[in-house]
Amino acid sequence: MAYDTDNIFAKILRGEIPSEKLYEDDNTYVFMDIMPRADGHCLVIPKTPARNMLDATPEQLAACLATVQKMGHAVMKAFEADGVTVQQFNEAAGGQEVFHLHYHVLPRHAGVGLRP
Ligand code: ADP
Repeated sequence: MAYDTDNIFAKILRGEIPSEKLYEDDNTYVFMDIMPRADGHCLVIPKTPARNMLDATPEQLAACLATVQKMGHAVMKAFEADGVTVQQFNEAAGGQEVFHLHYHVLPRHAGVGLRP
């Protein structure tokens, strides 16, 4: 399916709507999720257009996962987490609501569930 340049994350990348930036490099951008399901819940996205994982290039996937790993280490330290959950949804039937590739990085504490 086609990439919609009006999706919310494309607008964030263009600076048209605000975001709470945590990190960026040449290929990826990381910001806080607006409806966090855990303290420190952040989103890793590629700077270039990709609707989701199914539409992404190997280079976009590699860049995102390298940043996901970096953020995993960062949130483990910053939130004194016991673990990290990484989630990624593809197409509406797969749970995707914003159609720009993104990885959820969720710090986890032993015995504590995710908020809805
Ligand atoms: P789901 O909503 O089922 O997790 P997605 O994987 O498409 O589906 O996630 C979209 C995520 O984007 C949600 O966690 C939502 O809270 C977040 N979100 C939506 N708008 C914004 C925004 N303006 N800034 C930061 N995060 C946002």
